[in-house]
Amino acid sequence: MKYKLEKPVHGTIGNSKYQCTIEWRNGKFVADEPTTIGGKDTGPDPFTLLLSSLASCKLITLRMYIDRKGWTIDQVAVNANLYQETKEGITTTIIDCDILFISPVSDEQKMQLLDIAKACPISKILQGELKVRVFVYREGDAKTIKYANEEVTVLWKPEFCQHSTRCWTQMPQVFKPSLRKWIDPGGASAEKLEQQIAKCPSGALVFIKNEPENKTQ
Ligand code: SF4
Repeated sequence: MKYKLEKPVHGTIGNSKYQCTIEWRNGKFVADEPTTIGGKDTGPDPFTLLLSSLASCKLITLRMYIDRKGWTIDQVAVNANLYQETKEGITTTIIDCDILFISPVSDEQKMQLLDIAKACPISKILQGELKVRVFVYREGDAKTIKYANEEVTVLWKPEFCQHSTRCWTQMPQVFKPSLRKWIDPGGASAEKLEQQIAKCPSGALVFIKNEPENKTQ
């Protein structure tokens, strides 16, 4: 099992209806709800975010294909929207994407680009078998085990670990799952260890550079 994202998308909400802060690998943005349902419309709502994911994936996939073919098609646009129908208790969601080639394209190019756009990775996710798993933790629930040497401390929260195997396959000199004391922080330089821990997809591992007063005796 290998997660698609090196770092999970991390979202938080406080008391301010309904502004959420979403952190991704290179920054943050805000999500909200429209005023019609009690939000302040300070950022895209969850449906807009879902459609944005699909629209951007189609545009990026088309751009990659167009460039690979060496075609001169400078501008492409996508409009995406959805509606839902409920029949006999079953709700079906229909997403419509209209692709507009602002630069001229031949009929043959249009048909090829249609096939490419239909098969973009996010379309495949939405139309393939999809499971959403939800786990619940309370702050403080997770047991934390500490592994330290003079220079660094590694914290491991077993309840968060998703057993992706990434740490021990990529850095076996530090992460040794067959041993009871399975993390040896001295097995790699602090810099390399920090880089490896940043790749943990679940947040189960935390890297701390010891301050002089925190050094292990
Ligand atoms: S600690 Fe992180 S990288 Fe290691 S197995 Fe668990 S989830 Fe994967």
